[in-house]
Amino acid sequence: KMSLQQYTSIITGGAAGLGRSMASALAEMGSNLVIVDLNRNKADRAAEELREQFGVQVYVMEANVCSPEDALRVQEETVREFGRIDVLINNAGIVKNAKAEDTSYQDWLDVMNVNLNGVFLMSQAVGREMIRQRKGSIINISSMSGIIVNTPQCQIAYNVSKAGVISLTKTLAAEWAPYGIRVNTIAPGYMKTELTEKFFLEGGQLIDRWMSMTPMGRPGVPDELQGIAVYLASEASSYTTGSVFSVDGGYTAW
Ligand code: NAD
Repeated sequence: KMSLQQYTSIITGGAAGLGRSMASALAEMGSNLVIVDLNRNKADRAAEELREQFGVQVYVMEANVCSPEDALRVQEETVREFGRIDVLINNAGIVKNAKAEDTSYQDWLDVMNVNLNGVFLMSQAVGREMIRQRKGSIINISSMSGIIVNTPQCQIAYNVSKAGVISLTKTLAAEWAPYGIRVNTIAPGYMKTELTEKFFLEGGQLIDRWMSMTPMGRPGVPDELQGIAVYLASEASSYTTGSVFSVDGGYTAW
């Protein structure tokens, strides 16, 4: 039931970090991939490695998830290349840290655009195809910051965007269940990637505090999302929709 043979999976932000790791897990289970990323070079390198390691087809698209035209292009080119879309992982995301009173409207818009509007646009474009197919699995990457307000850093736009992703997930799950489309969210805690690297380095102060708030006492590594990604992509999760899965070393549990 975990097999992804004959599957086509789109992963946004698949060139780096958590997206790259989930891409690898899906390829290992046999899925062909479409890697969507702003960074063409990195995506090309990832694709090359994945083809070589797992023998699957990997198609790279330089695209911006918050452009309606790009979202449509991703759906159309994927269908042209592979004939169908089984899985969409909405993973691309950015973060900007500032106190609420100092957050510029432009920063607010930038974060909302990628983290929330991008998830809507990609889900809508790909969802229309999945509705035609009467089958599909959409996996949205939220964050523990969409569940709790994480301190001491201030990131109002990020928190709100990630909370929005959870509501978007539940709404789509309810609307699209009759079409055989499942929509779920993964809410990771601290995982060491380029996005969070700078926080790990800042004099150790932030990371020490975060780890003191994490029952498991350590950050996660990207590969620790692989199991849940394969589960949600595959038929193993055939009765699972509208759910939020925390992968955070227990951070949101206490
Ligand atoms: P990352 O910065 O390492 O990688 C993100 C990738 O997304 C990059 O390749 C980047 O080029 C791409 N990207 C950014 N904006 C894009 C856009 N508009 N269109 C297409 N591609 C775009 O980040 P990461 O740490 O791997 O995070 C991945 C996701 O997981 C994000 O949504 C993030 O908010 C979420 N997350 C991360 C952590 C963590 O600790 N790393 C924790 C919780 C949630």
